[in-house]
Amino acid sequence: MSWLRQLVRGRTIGTPQSAPLPERTQVRNAAGGYVFAVAPLDRVDRFLILGSEGGTYYATERALTIDNVTHLAALARSDGAAVLDRVIAISESGRAPKVSPAIFALALIAGLADDATRARALDEGLRRVCRTASHLLEFCSYVEQFRGWGRGLRRSVAAWYDARPVGDLAYQVVKYRDRAGFTHRDVFRLAHPRTAEAERAALYAWIARGTLPDTPAPSLALLGARATAHAAVELDAERWARITRESGLPREALPSAWLREPAVWEALLPTLGTTALLRNLATLTRVGLLTPAAAATRTVVERLTDSARLRAARVHPIAVLAALETYRSGRGARGRSTWTPVPAIVDALDAAFGHAFASVEPTGARTLIGLDVSGSMSCGELVGVPGLTPRVGAAAMALTHVRTDASVRTMAFSGGFVELPIAATDSVATIVRRTQNLPFDRTDCALPMLYALEHRLAVDLFVIYTDSETWAGAVHPIEALRTYRERTGIAAKLVVVGMTATGFTIADPDDAGTLDVVGFDAAAPALIAEFARRVA
Ligand code: CA
Repeated sequence: MSWLRQLVRGRTIGTPQSAPLPERTQVRNAAGGYVFAVAPLDRVDRFLILGSEGGTYYATERALTIDNVTHLAALARSDGAAVLDRVIAISESGRAPKVSPAIFALALIAGLADDATRARALDEGLRRVCRTASHLLEFCSYVEQFRGWGRGLRRSVAAWYDARPVGDLAYQVVKYRDRAGFTHRDVFRLAHPRTAEAERAALYAWIARGTLPDTPAPSLALLGARATAHAAVELDAERWARITRESGLPREALPSAWLREPAVWEALLPTLGTTALLRNLATLTRVGLLTPAAAATRTVVERLTDSARLRAARVHPIAVLAALETYRSGRGARGRSTWTPVPAIVDALDAAFGHAFASVEPTGARTLIGLDVSGSMSCGELVGVPGLTPRVGAAAMALTHVRTDASVRTMAFSGGFVELPIAATDSVATIVRRTQNLPFDRTDCALPMLYALEHRLAVDLFVIYTDSETWAGAVHPIEALRTYRERTGIAAKLVVVGMTATGFTIADPDDAGTLDVVGFDAAAPALIAEFARRVA
């Protein structure tokens, strides 16, 4: 029997994954295997980036949420300042697909942390994390779960309104009228912002009572424009489009009947944010603005493939992937709506997906990506995107590595090696389909290292996309890594890309040659490249 077969069967050198490693502190994962606990602050990152929406194979959304909130609450009490720093940093960097987990965490800190940190959460935190009126309303709905509307909270929320220039605030409150069961009128009743300044007072009167100013200042023109738009039902689409163009009203402020008109959407297009554009591609196609030959299609394709613009707009890769999967399917996830996808838009989205990650220079590290495609990776929805399972998300991310770096190769595994070819020329849609069609199976996260040994691959960097719910192997992943290093003489590193917001990892916290990153962190490729370059 060869040493490799012995290793795979765990005869002489291994510990089965169903038992903890001797003399190491490990935790039992949800599948019954033993792994390491993610460092407490890294666990916060996982929640901030992946959230708990959609749950996992092993945990319902509710159970996963409670688990994360319990962890977050304990850490907010013991190490609140550090948690707040993470929340602000992740929120401002645009690394997370959704803002909600950061806003939720901020509200929790504002209720549960020590006095100084609570005060900082309400001052610096509120200002830096709640950047739009929608964020503020969401914060107000969360914060009530953790504290009352005492003086500190009232003053901070009032200060949020007071600090915004009047014109900008008018735009914000016209665009985001309500969110999470809160309107700005509700917030005003609780926080009572007051001002002696005439223009601002006129805006506050509109928010609190709906009173339109008699002679509105230019900064408040949107208030009148909104009223005009909602009174203009008898006009035709051409006039609606002109009002849209001339008023600068955001899409959210327009009567819903207007949004069935291609002329109105054409008028909105120049000011439509890129993320809003992604969300409305199906509508733009359905109403007839985007057709294969339309000028608007060329405009949209240009915008979607402008990598600098995508990054400046901080468009998250998951937003692009969700748009791509929905758009090319030709039908809405919930509703009955259907459309005929325009091929040029599908191709543009495919290209945009790669651009949305922070760009990295190839490191030259010989990299083997191991994709866990086991049963548990094919359940749950990543950040609540319908159909986006962890294994589909992982495969799509692997494709971006393959496209940008010639020294990257991939393998897939569950309880054994799985055939899942990924070529730089493949489209995201092809990879998604290929991954979705794989069978369900058990999990052995030691397999990427064993695969490299078996195929005599020289690997400087293993990157394993997994939920770390490994249990079926005869040796632990870090034993396989150690054996790989010994047998090849290569000081191979291991990056674990966590695809669920649990506390489990196969990365050894005592090994400087391993690193945990969070799946669908927009900065993940950059973090991996930096780690690959780091001298051990
Ligand atoms: Ca699994």
